[in-house]
This record gives sequence, C-alpha cells and structure tokens, in this order.
Amino acid sequence: MKCPFCKHEESKVTDSRTASDIHGIRRRRECLKCSKRFTTFETVDLLLQVKKRSGTYEDFQPDKLIRGLDNACRHSRIGHAAVRKIAEDITKELSDSNARVITAEKLGDLAMKYLQERDVVAYIRFACVYKRFKDIDDVIDAIQSTNPKDAATDCV
Ligand SMILES: [Zn+2]
Repeated sequence: MKCPFCKHEESKVTDSRTASDIHGIRRRRECLKCSKRFTTFETVDLLLQVKKRSGTYEDFQPDKLIRGLDNACRHSRIGHAAVRKIAEDITKELSDSNARVITAEKLGDLAMKYLQERDVVAYIRFACVYKRFKDIDDVIDAIQSTNPKDAATDCV
C-alpha cells in the first residue's frame, strides 16, 4: 500500500476495525518514511466468480452489483442506502452459501428476489435489463404477479 503523500511502499497498520458495511476492513496506516497517516479500505475477498453468459468468468464485485441496482432503482422508492443494504444482503447470502461460482443469471435472480420484496418498479426495471424479457407478455406477467397498484412503470 503506497503512501499517498510520499509514495513510499511501506507502511504499518496502526488500527484496524471491521466496518459495518460492504467495504469490509478499514485500516489506519502510518507511512514508515514520512510518518503521515492515512486510511485504507479493503474489500473482503469472497473468492467468488461470476460466470457470464458468454462463458467467461470474472470476480464477483459488490460495487458493480450496487451500480446495476442503483440503475434499476433510479425512479423507484429505493434510495442508495437501501441499494447498498440489498447488495450487502446478497453478498452475505453468497458468502454464507460458500459458493465458489455463481452464474450471472443466478445473480440476477437473486437481485430480483430482493428487489421484488421492496419495490415492484425497481424489480421490473432490473428484470428488463438483466433477464431480457423475450416479449411484452413476460413483462405483463411479471406486473400481474405483483401488487397491481404499484405496477405502473415504463421498461427501459
Ligand atoms: Zn509517506
């Protein structure tokens, strides 16, 4: 971890505690050269790979999940704090399952499960993006299987 002040490569940890959110471990460091202090955040390594539709793999990235969810929730009642909570819950569920690989499709299903519990508009928007509904009937089915008073939405 490079010192942000003098770019020295070595530092010592002066304090570390587990932050109560998705960003994992927060550490206070002190540069061994200039003695200035700085803070780092280290994401917990889930050792989880996402298998994409194309057949390639990538590391599971909570931040990417948050971006996708933020996008889906833009015009819904789910704010950024709730999005982070959902991403945290999904990450925890994956972590608890000890899975090493999850398909992108399964990850999408999991996200939809959490969204559906909270806000149908966000759920459908997310579904439109990640499930790529084959036709409008599928969208209507999704709307009808949920609370009709919440169902007015546009699919983008
Ligand atoms: Zn330094």
